[in-house]
Amino acid sequence: MESRVNKGWSMITRSRWQIKQVDWVEELRAAYTDPQLLLAALNLTADDVDLATNSGGFPFRVPRPFVSRMRRADPHDPLLLQVLPRADEMVEVPGYALDPVGDLDCRRSPALLQKYSGRALLLLTGGCAIYCRYCFRRHFPYAQATGSANIERAIEDVRSDRTISEIILSGGDPLMLDDDTLANIIEQFAAIGHLRRLRIHTRLPVTVPARFTDALVTTLSRTRLDSVVVLHVNHPNEIDDELTTTLRRCARAGIHLLNQSVLLRGINDNADILAKLSESLFAASVLPYYVHLFDPVAGAAHFDVSEPAARAIAAALRARLPGYLVPRFVREVPGENAKMPIA
Ligand SMILES: *Cc1c(COP(=O)(O)O)cnc(C)c1O
Ligand code: SF4
Repeated sequence: MESRVNKGWSMITRSRWQIKQVDWVEELRAAYTDPQLLLAALNLTADDVDLATNSGGFPFRVPRPFVSRMRRADPHDPLLLQVLPRADEMVEVPGYALDPVGDLDCRRSPALLQKYSGRALLLLTGGCAIYCRYCFRRHFPYAQATGSANIERAIEDVRSDRTISEIILSGGDPLMLDDDTLANIIEQFAAIGHLRRLRIHTRLPVTVPARFTDALVTTLSRTRLDSVVVLHVNHPNEIDDELTTTLRRCARAGIHLLNQSVLLRGINDNADILAKLSESLFAASVLPYYVHLFDPVAGAAHFDVSEPAARAIAAALRARLPGYLVPRFVREVPGENAKMPIA
């Protein structure tokens, strides 16, 4: 009895005085930006993982909360493989392009993309908290697209087009902007009468849960627009208790949470992993939305999964999960009016 009381006290003491709340900006500053240092922290060497000799012009950054979910001394860790520049990146493969989904052809203005009816996508920044080696925008010329003048122009474009009812904040990662800047942009969109929904495509809270600050959650829950946050989680190991607690708090505040994944060879290309991912997402108040078939972007062909293999995984998931936990398997086909289901 006495020891339990003592334990209770020490926990209270620890939470009050010893755990310093690290904010998300500090987390970004402390992120790994050198693959060699990350490997050393994981008890691995460059030879263990076939490290690329350079990053091919695409930055390297991995926040520590994400690293804490990696297994030590495992060169095949599914989180590590998503971020590690491997020698395969230097291999040129025909058919793998700089702009695999035709983003450049669908610009309404430098920062505003529209491919589909009723929704437009705003590129707020090219920066990300984590750089995923398979990113389909890894070669996107963000410097020409971002910046406040382009954002203002995009807001004007949305204001003058009554057919747009949903604005999607994307990038890069839109949550790289600070809370005040985001609140200001969201306020301007909320003032546009024909908009109904605000959607944010982000991976930042997955890698740094502290990014869901009270201020951000308040902004998203108080705006007149219905708020949807689409996360990007590929593997169940990315979800730990801290992230689950954070996401449940957002859901309680009235923010709709969805997830999209990319089907990645050697990382999540099997039904066991994706079933577990769906279960873990749901336990964190997140519904699985899309599994994207790999967009053939140059430098990342080693992640591609064949369409027959993807179809088999989708069928296996359907056979074992309730329908609402089965994400839609889609491929983006340039020129189509929606993401295309692979049936
Ligand atoms: C993928 C994408 C969307 C979102 O499509 P949904 O099917 O609504 O999730 C919107 N705009 C662009 C430009 C996209 O690439
Ligand atoms: S977080 Fe998203 S935009 Fe940034 S590198 Fe990863 S996939 Fe690309």
